[in-house]
Amino acid sequence: MANEPTPLMKQYAELKEQAGDALLFFRMGDFYELFGDDAVEAARILEITLTSRDKNKPDPLPMAGVPHHSAGNYVQKLLNAGKKVAICEQFEEAAAGKPGKTLVRRAIVRLLTPAIQFDGESSETSYLATALPETPGDPQSAWALGCLDIATGDFRFAQLSHLDELSAWASDLPIRHWVELQGLAPSGLAATLQAAGQGLGRPVLCENLPSNYLGQAASEDKLKAQFGLASLDAFVPEGVTRRALGVLLTYALRSQSSALGAAETSNPALSVPSAPKLQHLRLPEPLRRSRSMVLGPRTAQHLDLFPDLFQLISRTRSALGTRTLKRLLMEPLRDPQDITHRQEGIQELALKAARAESLGKLLGQLYDLERISGRLTTGQANPRDTWALGASLGTLPELGRILDSAESPLLQELRERLLRGAEVLGSLSRRILDTQNEEAPLLAREGGIFKKGTNSELDRLIDLSTEGSKFLVELETRERERTGIPSLKVRYNRVFGYYIEVTQAHLKNVPADYQRKQTTVGAERFFTEELKKFEDEIVTAEDRRKRLEQSLFSDLLEEAQRHTLQVMDVARALGELDSWLSLSRLTEMPGWVFPRIDDSLDVEILGGRHPVVDSVSRGKFVPNDLKLGQKSRLSLLITGPNMGGKSTVMRQVALIVLLGQCGAPVPARSARWGAFSSIYTRIGAHDAIARGQSTFMVEMSELAHILHRADERSLVILDEIGRGTSTYDGISVAWSTLEWICKKLRCRTLFATHYHELTHLSEELPRLGNAHMAVAAPAQTNETQLRFLYQLREGAANESFGIQVAQLAGLPRGVIDRAWKVLARLESDQRTPGAATAEPLVLGSGPGEQLDEVLPLFASASSQRGLTRRADDAESVGSIASTAPTLPSIRSALSRLFDSDPSLAGSADLSGDLFSSQDHKASAGAGAAHSPEARAATETESRAPAASRGLPVEPPLWASELARAEISNMTPLQAMNFLAQLQEKARSS
Ligand code: ADP
Ligand code: MG
Repeated sequence: MANEPTPLMKQYAELKEQAGDALLFFRMGDFYELFGDDAVEAARILEITLTSRDKNKPDPLPMAGVPHHSAGNYVQKLLNAGKKVAICEQFEEAAAGKPGKTLVRRAIVRLLTPAIQFDGESSETSYLATALPETPGDPQSAWALGCLDIATGDFRFAQLSHLDELSAWASDLPIRHWVELQGLAPSGLAATLQAAGQGLGRPVLCENLPSNYLGQAASEDKLKAQFGLASLDAFVPEGVTRRALGVLLTYALRSQSSALGAAETSNPALSVPSAPKLQHLRLPEPLRRSRSMVLGPRTAQHLDLFPDLFQLISRTRSALGTRTLKRLLMEPLRDPQDITHRQEGIQELALKAARAESLGKLLGQLYDLERISGRLTTGQANPRDTWALGASLGTLPELGRILDSAESPLLQELRERLLRGAEVLGSLSRRILDTQNEEAPLLAREGGIFKKGTNSELDRLIDLSTEGSKFLVELETRERERTGIPSLKVRYNRVFGYYIEVTQAHLKNVPADYQRKQTTVGAERFFTEELKKFEDEIVTAEDRRKRLEQSLFSDLLEEAQRHTLQVMDVARALGELDSWLSLSRLTEMPGWVFPRIDDSLDVEILGGRHPVVDSVSRGKFVPNDLKLGQKSRLSLLITGPNMGGKSTVMRQVALIVLLGQCGAPVPARSARWGAFSSIYTRIGAHDAIARGQSTFMVEMSELAHILHRADERSLVILDEIGRGTSTYDGISVAWSTLEWICKKLRCRTLFATHYHELTHLSEELPRLGNAHMAVAAPAQTNETQLRFLYQLREGAANESFGIQVAQLAGLPRGVIDRAWKVLARLESDQRTPGAATAEPLVLGSGPGEQLDEVLPLFASASSQRGLTRRADDAESVGSIASTAPTLPSIRSALSRLFDSDPSLAGSADLSGDLFSSQDHKASAGAGAAHSPEARAATETESRAPAASRGLPVEPPLWASELARAEISNMTPLQAMNFLAQLQEKARSS
């Protein structure tokens, strides 16, 4: 008997079965209650109290509840945590006086998931997504990917040639809810998405559906019915893509009320959404649209588009604009004409400041029309939504008027769209604004939605209540006179209704026709026949008014629903206007210009800056030039020390290209390039351990994607390819990649590397140039302190400065000293293999003491470095050698010994703008080579392949001596003596 479930719990169990794995919000009076595991989980996430039902029973049922009026926030929190929530409403009031005794009707009205929600105010896209294989079971199968953003109606698909590509695409999309058909799932992808979502703090809900959830034919029918099409051919490619989209559509429809069994509930007082159609869904479009540029799967992430760049450039006034601007950044244009077209419009907005100001003001008053139309079509729009719709649409004519004098085709087209919208939607907007109160209630059933004059019956009911209050005032005055009680009051409260209140002191004057209603402290409350009659009338009038308003509101909703598509179109136009206006304001930033974009394969960016790094560096950012071209070179191999600015300069080029092709101004003194159709990037050691892939694996998958896809019109940015593996593997992969790019892809490429061995490739590969990030090592200091100049200069870097950078980073002195010795050893090993065992170098007990005796000439240099000699410890050197990242040439070690030479240590500004090699020759020839700094530059550059240099500067004498010397045939001591002598010469020269 004790375990016999109550009727209520039986009802709960049935509904919970319907809700499946969703947390069931079970409406009971003013609360939504959760039971069992749902309660435990919700209590944990929401941090609300977990109680239990029937505490006296042996196994009490866990229970947690939230008040219905604030349920929205709680639901949102659960969705943000990646949960699914089913909302169960109650369709009758519990019988008064004996709650719980009669079972009221309940039904699930809505299923919400992280991707299926309408109330969220966020401007982020949240996709419900799925993928299906072209040939099930085949690991080489192609895949169809479908995505649906139900809040805005954005419906997209992509066809991908293999699983890797699918993974790359899917992990780059804002997917919040991933569904898979049993047996047809892309293996591992759900876990990848979940891990990635976790990493970004936006958990992804992954859900399994039965394999027969929806078949191919049914999918096609569903899509046709949704969009009223006889054939899908013009919109969605044949085959499994249609099924993927059909599954998403079906899921979305089923998550709405009617499919969940609430349609038959018939209480007119409670608005139950009618069968949803999701009319706001747009016809499916390919995820990669042909008019826009392709961004590599991780490019947005590599370039820190969100939030860094976005925050810097966003000046939007509306949620629509914010969302559009995000979309814009992800879809730059590729056609020079399209770009110029947009540029002209944005330029015009920038020039006509007063007009832009008034446009901005109006846009600032817009409500989120995309989301409102989302709620409209699912029948969840409330009176505030419709009012917001009316008010937003009301701005159209004026926006159109402000654009009357627009000259650019872009703005003229936009004006047409807005005016067309104003024409079609004008009557809807007027109807709303004329009839609805501005302070509309959130719930349609509360009444008070409509103004007087909307409907004559409503007017009569409104009058009744206003006259009602007049009547009450009159009654009070009248009764005061009649009874002579000055403090007599006529009042109302929710429990007892209307009453006349008389204080104790005056009770003796109460007339006989007063009937007692209630006694309070110090007063009695009465009613009269007259008051009773009034009460009956007024209360039913209120009820009738609410019911009437609700039905008037349904009519209004219906009309609005019929216009959903036009509203969506207007919303898109307004979003675009706002985003362009936002971009136009970038012209106010000092040193931003509109680039010129043409059909060539050239790039000429002068004084380019990284928008984000520049903005935070308070004027300290060093601008850089970049020139690429079909006639000179298309690819640039960039060397230079760690922290030298390689990654920054490459990102900056990509960001300038991306902004420019959005039609925006860019941070540069001047810029011109031939349009790119895609940007592919592979930057930094992007750690994906959370996704179960090693760093190197991630790097190689991303590289694979790029090398398969890039073409002549791509911008390819590769940063330190091969870093994640052993030196020889890494260098080989980097080497062959560079060959592939230069010989096969022939795309404009920036390739940063710490493998100096690659710099000679410029002699062999077509249109490959060398450049480096310049550094200065100040002279005459005890520390070998390095200073970064952040200048991109012609030619390869002469060394990697790894140990100096390690020192800058604060490695213990002992480690640094030791590293120098290991390096010297490695270098001499490279030259004279036998030397390793003969004269190992070890950490001395006192710096330099032994060497100093033998080699007075070398004393100063050795004590600086703590270089000593001892005949043991060869092994540890060997083991370090095998993990050393690279083997710099002996020449670089020598130059380090000369770092006290002032002519080598110039830190002043060098005239090293990065021009094509011809330009460079010209500038070097123009007398720039006479300063000590220029000599230093020459010194550096003379190490680069002579063919690409050809600089007309004679090396100093000591240098030619050095160049001739056979150092590899000397013993280390001979070599040091030789060097010390040379240093003397260098100092006195
Ligand atoms: P690398 O890739 O060569 O290791 P980064 O590009 O990561 O070097 O740059 C290291 C740091 O140097 C950046 O974080 C930035 O603060 C600074 N930096 C880079 N380029 C510039 C520049 N042009 N002007 C000023 N600072 C720069
Ligand atoms: Mg870097």
